[in-house]
Amino acid sequence: MYTTLRGWLDHLQRTGRLSVAEPGLPLRHTVAGLANRLAGDSATLFPRPGGHTMPIVAGLLGGRTWISEAMGVPPADVPTRYGKACAEPRPVREVTGAPCQEVVRRDVDLERQLPIPTHNELDSGAYITAGLLITRGPAGQNVSIHRLQVSGPDRLGALLLPRHTFALFGERERAGQDLEVAIVIGVDPLTLLASQAIVPLGHDELEIAGALRGEDLPVTRCVTSDLLVPAEAEIVLEGRLLAGERAPEGPFGEFPQYYGPRADRHVIAVDAITHRAEPIYHTIVGGGLEHLLLGAVPREASFLAQLRRMFPCVRDVHLSMGGTCRYHLYVQIDDHSPGEAKNVVLGALALHYDVKHVTVVDADVDVHDPSDVEWAVATRFQADQDLLVVSGAQGSRLDPSTADGVGARMGLDATVPAGAAPGEYTRIRVPGEAELEPSALATAAPGRWQEKIR
Ligand code: MN
Repeated sequence: MYTTLRGWLDHLQRTGRLSVAEPGLPLRHTVAGLANRLAGDSATLFPRPGGHTMPIVAGLLGGRTWISEAMGVPPADVPTRYGKACAEPRPVREVTGAPCQEVVRRDVDLERQLPIPTHNELDSGAYITAGLLITRGPAGQNVSIHRLQVSGPDRLGALLLPRHTFALFGERERAGQDLEVAIVIGVDPLTLLASQAIVPLGHDELEIAGALRGEDLPVTRCVTSDLLVPAEAEIVLEGRLLAGERAPEGPFGEFPQYYGPRADRHVIAVDAITHRAEPIYHTIVGGGLEHLLLGAVPREASFLAQLRRMFPCVRDVHLSMGGTCRYHLYVQIDDHSPGEAKNVVLGALALHYDVKHVTVVDADVDVHDPSDVEWAVATRFQADQDLLVVSGAQGSRLDPSTADGVGARMGLDATVPAGAAPGEYTRIRVPGEAELEPSALATAAPGRWQEKIR
């Protein structure tokens, strides 16, 4: 089990998936560009980026198999294991003398103290992108990742989409109070994955991290608040979401491969920075592979668990890359009753406002292969009978085709119609094809292939 960022880097290095960049690469675009080019093949360490002594790491999760390795299960078991961790969280364990507080600084100057890169072309500037934002509400702590624009030496502009942090801050702001936050940078892969769980407000994602690793997550109390942060983290920013304050934030390159526009958004004041003696700064390139995968895998797990509770016929789900790992959900069902596929569509659309288009397929279709799903739509779907459209629904505000987050949601029932004649939908196959050994039965044709066929 990899319980620290450093332990995970050791594992990647041992398995040939850790690159080290030339020292001193520029923070503006070059770090993101090289990280993108190597994403999926290796994580990348950047020594002395932009002249900073603190190194950067990017690309910690480069594929679905990397995630299953971090979780210590075969790829097919990832959703079940993750869903179990969400259902059976483990309490955190408070410790003192935490590595993340080896150095405590109250003189905050973000861009001088941290190597914060600028990622995409039209980004408004440097952004903290891999910060786990921890807050506390009446029902406990909450963790989520928000894009954080560096707006001043101790100021961050934050995009809070309408979920948990937004709700917790709204409650405090209406009472005229700031909300204390901690922003945790550089955690182990399981804590990173846990931060993306789709669970109800009041469920502490750090307790899901503990369940994923199979032991209580060590946490420590912040130096300026009572928030509990992962003790083994590299860097922690402590501060407050400011009541009544909004300031321009954006544009910023996001997972849909577009820029989230500039607008007046929430503001965080940073009061202190704590970190390890020689910390490593983690960045997630906006819209890059790691950003997409972090959206997909935890969501798939949460969605599968929720859909199975509603519909025992649900077997598997997949958020496709082409759907930016958020907008296109494929659902595989088996042994379903007439009309049930359409109910599955309705349930799936309610899971999360990001789920824009749902496609439901039968058990003989591989939901992890977008071509196979397209085949089912091509051959089992009739738009006048199998299409569901809901207008004017809440969707993703980062989807530029919506009207500020309000748009249409769609479901496609691409299952074999109830009452189809036997044999009408039998998929062609060559018996024994999968069992043949091509290398034993055929070789590359020689220069004189004509001789070989006599
Ligand atoms: Mn939450």
